[in-house]
Amino acid sequence: MMDKRSRGRNLISIKKHNRAVILNILRQRGPISRAEIARISKLTPPTVSNLVSELAGSEFIREIGAGDSYRSGGRRPTLLTLNPEAGYVVGIKIGVTLLEAILTDLEGRILHRAQTGKVAGENPGAVVDQLAGLVQSLLNQSNLPRERLLGIGAASSGVINSEKGIVRRSSLLQWKDVPLAQLIEERFPVPVFIENDANVVALAEKWHGAAVNESNVICITIGVGIGAGIIIGGELYGGSHHGAGEIGHIVVDRQGPVCNCGKRGCLEALASDGAIARRAAMALAERNLPASAWAHAAQKGPGAPQSNAATSVEFTADDVSRAAEAGDPLAREIMEETGRYIGIGIANIANLIDPEMIILGGERMGQSGHLLLAAVKGAVNEHLFSQPAAGLRIMPSRLGNDAWVIGAATLVLKEFFQPATHRLEKHRLDTKVTPAAKSVL
Ligand SMILES: [Zn+2]
Repeated sequence: MMDKRSRGRNLISIKKHNRAVILNILRQRGPISRAEIARISKLTPPTVSNLVSELAGSEFIREIGAGDSYRSGGRRPTLLTLNPEAGYVVGIKIGVTLLEAILTDLEGRILHRAQTGKVAGENPGAVVDQLAGLVQSLLNQSNLPRERLLGIGAASSGVINSEKGIVRRSSLLQWKDVPLAQLIEERFPVPVFIENDANVVALAEKWHGAAVNESNVICITIGVGIGAGIIIGGELYGGSHHGAGEIGHIVVDRQGPVCNCGKRGCLEALASDGAIARRAAMALAERNLPASAWAHAAQKGPGAPQSNAATSVEFTADDVSRAAEAGDPLAREIMEETGRYIGIGIANIANLIDPEMIILGGERMGQSGHLLLAAVKGAVNEHLFSQPAAGLRIMPSRLGNDAWVIGAATLVLKEFFQPATHRLEKHRLDTKVTPAAKSVL
């Protein structure tokens, strides 16, 4: 059963591919004339005309009247535009404690949202039950014809075989070899795509956020874990074993603390949420300050039960962020030190990949973004070898916390607008096609 599932290798026809090419040009360049589409796509004008008529029939394309007349004084061409409401997609983030889902149109605009609390480590079947409930609630809210749902994209932490739709392993979710795409497809008869969560954040920024015009981008997510999505030549780079982007396990201090992965001194062991809380608790203890100074003041407010025993206080990275934002010098120093560790990790991969842009996202950026950003920039400038500091842009995510779900939805949009060319039917590619034959393929 499972080995038959290999959506990455499913072949597509040239016709389907050409349809996607036209829709993608409309998405990126519309409103646009048929002649311009033919020029950009290098398809023949009759092919474009035929496919446009077909796509207009299924409401994916709208005519919006005439454009500017030709300089030669010819007839003004009719302009075409993508109808973003002709299809809808669902994007899901499977977090450690939260499941989030959105319904978007073809341009990735969020139309409806749904979310629910999730028990960590809950078995995959139960989580899929919860997911199915969320998707159903989105569909009910939207009241859309079911046939307009093009697909579902889902993001989770861990090593994901996106071609086979399997979560190979996720230590945060405590899952191993879960055929997640298939489990969701059993509930909803649409294609389901899954991908690592840091990768979908990078995809979201490339399609809809800060990196729309960039080719080589690294997107770092900072929070419970630290991950990276890498875009090279405009495409997500997954690596040979779906393991690319594990920036959290770059060693930044050989004498550093032991990481979740069992090794010592990884970036994640020094700069993840858990590490921030640990370093903060140690810093307070060294100065004989009670942990409650931050935890209670920030989180529980006046009247909360007081405790002076540092060990008895549930101390989180959120507490440190809040204290830092309130101006506490020690908390600020801890956040800045966190930024410097992240900057060292970023300089290491920037030296290797030479990107145009680094985007910082994830929960911690949402809370202490400007403190982290300044410290990251300082450390990157210090450790970057080849580029002048101004050549590499480092910026916060433009999509913020929505990047996860928008990126998950984009998995479906990418398949719709840009099906991979290596999946074209080979015998057709091998055949020499005459221009006349091309128009009827
Ligand atoms: Zn590690």
